[in-house]
Amino acid sequence: MAIWNLGSINADHVYAVPHIPQAGETLSATDHALFLGGKGTNMSVAGARAGATVHHIGAVGDDGEWCVDRLMEYGVDTRFIARVDADTTQALIVVDLQGENMIVLSPGANEVIPQSILQEALSEAETGDWLLIQNETNLQRTAAVLGRKMGLRIAYAAAPFDADRVQAVLPALDLLFLNAVEAQQLQDATGLTPDALGVADVIVTLGADGADWYSRAGKQHFDAIPVEPVDTTGAGDTFTGYTLAGLDRGQPMAQAIGVAMRAGALMVQRHGTADVIPDLKEVQDMML
Ligand code: ADP
Repeated sequence: MAIWNLGSINADHVYAVPHIPQAGETLSATDHALFLGGKGTNMSVAGARAGATVHHIGAVGDDGEWCVDRLMEYGVDTRFIARVDADTTQALIVVDLQGENMIVLSPGANEVIPQSILQEALSEAETGDWLLIQNETNLQRTAAVLGRKMGLRIAYAAAPFDADRVQAVLPALDLLFLNAVEAQQLQDATGLTPDALGVADVIVTLGADGADWYSRAGKQHFDAIPVEPVDTTGAGDTFTGYTLAGLDRGQPMAQAIGVAMRAGALMVQRHGTADVIPDLKEVQDMML
């Protein structure tokens, strides 16, 4: 089995700041670092670190070879990352002393992924493989429709939230990931609670409060592992990649979520994004 992830690839510029800046404020950062990031990338790396076969479908510009190399080092298949005539997408991330963050994305390669690379990739996919999508690329709806037709299982992380994009893919989904804010935004947009969306499995992550899983059997709550967070960036992406990797190797949902919660708890204790996602061994050591 495998995970096919149509996902963003970002160059993350991370600034440590004393507080999240207000409108009109100029603020000196205490530190700056460049990391590999993007929700799609984080999920691909998390899936690979959790032991799954992950094929990333995406795009970078001339300035993005280091991103592709890094993804490859983390065990992700990079054959379906197109080189396009646009800059690699950049993210400006500020993180305060409490670990809260604020993110601004530049437009770039993530929004001009060629349809040909998607088709080329999915021609190698097999029935029952997972196709994962998020909201930081073009082609999500095309991918969801194509994947569904091919008998793939479709998972979607509705972030960053966009009501139109969510509603365009909802009917095609097998599994939907939302954080608490996104679940509220979706309810505001549709009037529907997670159990009424018509998606077989919906997982709402609740940060330090854990996660809720909605299925035909009802709602099941999972407590988070109590830890001291230093940077919450990438926790949800890590959780998503780990959950899918577990399902991909046949774990029941509750077990996959249990492992993913531990990966998320390790992640919030680290600064950075894709480069610091824990591997399965670290997560298993935490479970002892
Ligand atoms: P997102 O990053 O998408 O907002 P969440 O903040 O809900 O996602 O985090 C995803 C998962 O990571 C949670 O369900 C939980 O398992 C874990 N996690 C996040 N924050 C914490 C925390 N402060 N302590 C322990 N686990 C956490």
